[in-house]
Amino acid sequence: QVLREGGLVAFPTETVYGLGGNALDEDAAKKIYAAKGRPCDNPLIAHISCAEELEPLVKEIPEAGRRLMEAFWPGPLTMIFPKSSKVPYGTTGGLDTVAVRMPDDPIANRLIALAGVPIAAPSANTSGRPSPTTADHVWQDMNGRIEMIIDGGPVGIGVESTIVDVSSPVPAVLRPGAITMEMLREVLGEVTIDPAILGPMSPGVRPKAPGMKYRHYAPKAELTIVEGEIKEVIAKINSLAAEKLEEGLKVGIIGTEETVGCYPAGDVKSIGTREDEATIAGSLYGILREFDNDGVDYIYSEAFATGGIG
Ligand code: AMP
Ligand code: MG
Repeated sequence: QVLREGGLVAFPTETVYGLGGNALDEDAAKKIYAAKGRPCDNPLIAHISCAEELEPLVKEIPEAGRRLMEAFWPGPLTMIFPKSSKVPYGTTGGLDTVAVRMPDDPIANRLIALAGVPIAAPSANTSGRPSPTTADHVWQDMNGRIEMIIDGGPVGIGVESTIVDVSSPVPAVLRPGAITMEMLREVLGEVTIDPAILGPMSPGVRPKAPGMKYRHYAPKAELTIVEGEIKEVIAKINSLAAEKLEEGLKVGIIGTEETVGCYPAGDVKSIGTREDEATIAGSLYGILREFDNDGVDYIYSEAFATGGIG
């Protein structure tokens, strides 16, 4: 009822908590942008509960889109399609394309089905902050700004959906996420990666995923990732931490189950185990928020492999 009347409801999905509003109602979209403090040229993803709900939102479903739907929906995959006239520009940030996802989480699925409209649902955090993976994270950012929060416990995956543009001749990944490059290649063969993901964009270039030009998922502290052979990484992090601690600053350290014992000083947290990188993805945003709450000035983290969920 809240959604149908144009209000906002935060709800769990398998990736992160979403901030839902009617995707076909420009006023609801405006409320989402206002609650998050998000720039309105950063488009929203429309969430649906079953495959039949896709057709009214898009002009056509390219072959690559059909194959990916078959393989990964419901699930953590968002696809970009040419939009139909039903979807307002207020939802797509003025673009002629629309991003659509069918979440797998049973609460999300049931909520969307009961609302009877596609649900625009960016992550339910203040724009720029780490995404929420528990209802408490949503409460910290959205208390007093939205009508309702549905608490479904901690989410399963903990990082965003993968975004694939299937409106271009060769499908392109616009945002890496829970569906990995390896999984996409298996279904599609050829997939490209948008250059905005791999490094800073040259000045004047417009990113294909408008959100890529904004700062994202950032903790308040300055975060440094140390790469290399693990023994050297530990030594380097310990010496960087010692320098800052000596200056009287608060230091956070991100290690794993395998290494937390190797850091004698600082606010040391284990992000999970290298044996199962899904545990690391699941803890990432929660740990960054804990460091924010602890008032840490600097964070040093071990690096993780860039393949798979890493
Ligand atoms: P989120 O921040 O998780 O809500 O995801 C929104 C992301 O999807 C942003 O980074 C947008 O840039 C991207 N996105 C949404 N709609 C489109 C679209 N029509 N074309 C390209 N990227 C889009
Ligand atoms: Mg987000």
